[in-house]
Amino acid sequence: MIESLQTGWHSFLDLISGIIIPDWAALIGLLPVFLFFGVIMPIITLTVVRWLLYAVRKPRAHVALAEGPRSASLDAAGAPVYPTGEPFCTRDQLVYAPGRVECVTCHQALSVVCPKCEVGRPASLSTCGNCGLVLVAVPRVHALRPAGPPRGGAAAA
Ligand SMILES: [Zn+2]
Ligand SMILES: [Zn+2]
Repeated sequence: MIESLQTGWHSFLDLISGIIIPDWAALIGLLPVFLFFGVIMPIITLTVVRWLLYAVRKPRAHVALAEGPRSASLDAAGAPVYPTGEPFCTRDQLVYAPGRVECVTCHQALSVVCPKCEVGRPASLSTCGNCGLVLVAVPRVHALRPAGPPRGGAAAA
């Protein structure tokens, strides 16, 4: 195993020395390449890394502002697509954070599509009239935090 590796290494060295080492003109000709990989590439890499760090940090600041309305995404036909369970304004094609019931732009009552049965209703109604699913409208910051033991955990088990 080691022997075959050494043999392979020696034949590799022979190959390399046969190609590169005696040929100084070619080596000098490759200097711009070495310069490129040794100097310019690190600079580009550093720039890209700094840019990436900036791009990674930027969304965090963006998430803090995510409570405001955002434009609904459009499908292939250009029609707005509203995510289920999130209030939206059909007039301005804006999607709001859960808990909002009125559009800040046109003051129209927001609508919401039930995530369970996909039936629409006014966002002010927390319970779906079709399937009875209740959308609990709490701010996202609180929704992420588990509030004590799960409701009825012992009784359900
Ligand atoms: Zn509106
Ligand atoms: Zn429903």
